[in-house]
Amino acid sequence: MALPETEYYHVRTESTLPTTSTVNTLLEHIISCPYCNESIIVLIDPSVEQQAYIEDCQVCCQPIEFRVLITEGELSEISVSQDNQ
Ligand SMILES: [Zn+2]
Repeated sequence: MALPETEYYHVRTESTLPTTSTVNTLLEHIISCPYCNESIIVLIDPSVEQQAYIEDCQVCCQPIEFRVLITEGELSEISVSQDNQ
């Protein structure tokens, strides 16, 4: 008596989720405020290659202009200046 053959179909559920290759870890960097000279920690998003933005100083609350350059997910250049209108 042969045992009934059981066939197993291995259904591979391939994940159709979009593969996010971009690293979402923010880069921590310490800069000196161009107004009060205090060292402040800034968080930089490495997924954007060229960034220019204004963020208020955590110490003196003055608007600091940031210019950031990212190369292959690494911070390659950062400069801060006073936001002179
Ligand atoms: Zn400051």
